[in-house]
Amino acid sequence: MADVMKKIPVREQDPHVRAHNFDEVCLGYDKEQAMEEASRCLNCKNARCITGCPVSINIPAFIHEVKEGNFAEAYQIISLSSSLPAICGRVCPQESQCEGPCVRGVKGESISIGKLERFVADWARENGIKPAPPAEKNGHKVAIIGAGPSGLTCAGDLARLGYDVTIFEALHKAGGVLVYGIPEFRLPKEKVVAAEVENVKGLGVKIETDVVVGKAVTIDELLNDEGYEAVFIGSGAGLPMFMGIPGEQANGVFSANEYLTRNNLMQAFRDDYDTPIFRGKKVVVVGGGNVAMDAARTALRLGADTHIVYRRSEAELPARQEEVHHAREEGVVFHMLCNPVEILTDERSYVRGIRCIRMELGEPDASGRRRPVEIPGSEFEIEADTVIMALGTTPNPLIASTTIGLDTNRRKCIIADETTGSTSKEAVFAGGDAVTGAATVILAMGAGKAAAKGIDDFIKARSAR
Ligand SMILES: Cc1cc2nc3c(=O)[nH]c(=O)nc-3n(C[C@H](O)[C@H](O)[C@H](O)COP(=O)(O)OP(=O)(O)OC[C@H]3O[C@@H](n4cnc5c(N)ncnc54)[C@H](O)[C@@H]3O)c2cc1C
Ligand code: SF4
Repeated sequence: MADVMKKIPVREQDPHVRAHNFDEVCLGYDKEQAMEEASRCLNCKNARCITGCPVSINIPAFIHEVKEGNFAEAYQIISLSSSLPAICGRVCPQESQCEGPCVRGVKGESISIGKLERFVADWARENGIKPAPPAEKNGHKVAIIGAGPSGLTCAGDLARLGYDVTIFEALHKAGGVLVYGIPEFRLPKEKVVAAEVENVKGLGVKIETDVVVGKAVTIDELLNDEGYEAVFIGSGAGLPMFMGIPGEQANGVFSANEYLTRNNLMQAFRDDYDTPIFRGKKVVVVGGGNVAMDAARTALRLGADTHIVYRRSEAELPARQEEVHHAREEGVVFHMLCNPVEILTDERSYVRGIRCIRMELGEPDASGRRRPVEIPGSEFEIEADTVIMALGTTPNPLIASTTIGLDTNRRKCIIADETTGSTSKEAVFAGGDAVTGAATVILAMGAGKAAAKGIDDFIKARSAR
């Protein structure tokens, strides 16, 4: 009999094997493991896990169905609140969301809510179970910009309410960061992302790819000429930041966004694709978030000796613990408390190394984390032929600069009301990374959900006038 205070361990690919392939690392629970893990849940009356979930899934109710072996019922409960459960079950930071306040976690380990969600969604897909069909059409048209988690969620919720919804997506595939950023070994593209996008389309949502709003069509045209009564902007934060240090223009320096997009969306790691990729022998990734871990683990799988340079200490790493643990297991080397000051180049302007300076932690800064301070005279060099900058991203200014009356803040994020998604411009709503700056899938989904409600209220109020 398993220890009820501990999570049922999940199956994973061996680190030595997976370091050389792009197949999914985590293999998930089987039926018996899922039911056993579900039986650890206390089915709390005052379920704290729900308050930790930005889309308010009825967690005890779905876990109860898993415990009883009623997986189809469990799926229908989840899909009332989430259009993307197989995705969230894989990439959400459950440790700081639903699993953080889980009552089981007080004396033991919290319930593996994410792994159970993933199991249910995978089981539903494998058994052809779909979300419940939407209400009848109500004759109102809404446009969504961007087919990332915020746009897909907003679209799905509006379609369920009967709206005629069209998503305009700049890329040739729907999914946003889920298809271009997060690697295949964490989130399979065809099996998982494409299948959940199909479920959203199954609710009646139309997706027009290869349409850059702000170039092909503007928001004002959508509202004034195309008959849309409201627009939701879920265009993300896809513009990479750089450090501004000498040598950053050299051959062999990439933004993590470009490096990952070449691999994930453009499939550079596959021999049957022509997408060029720089297969470095020694790669240094700068940064400590999920993006840095993804870039490092991708470089490692492409055959590089891979190092991460991060200016604070292990305790401040913003990446999910699971991702840091997986990166270490696979052989990524971490250099904590050091910061690049220069990219070193050879006579042809190719990267030959990176000069760093050691740091120590000073007083807390505005983020509450201790500020890293340079230790004078502590510079050292790391040899490298590739440097990947994973320093964060900001929203692309295209939409704001082509939409009259849409206010942004000094970080170029669209200003929107947190509870309704409404912006400074009438009939225009926004949410996700375009509003918050780079955040998480589930926060983007929560914002899409709130905006769907905001749009429904807005259109109903206007129709009643
Ligand atoms: C490499 C990487 C790893 C990550 N790992 C995690 C993780 O493990 N867990 C987690 O929770 N979060 C993770 N995140 C963050 C998470 O993916 C984002 O917070 C989330 O995707 C934001 O969703 P969104 O819908 O706001 O924007 P996005 O996912 O960025 O989607 C925006 C979409 O809008 C489209 N678009 C942009 N401009 C236009 C335009 N003008 N016209 C039409 N379409 C447009 C874009 O092409 C894109 O498809 C990661 C991010 C990255 C980059
Ligand atoms: S808080 Fe934990 S134990 Fe309680 S219902 Fe939620 S998942 Fe189950």
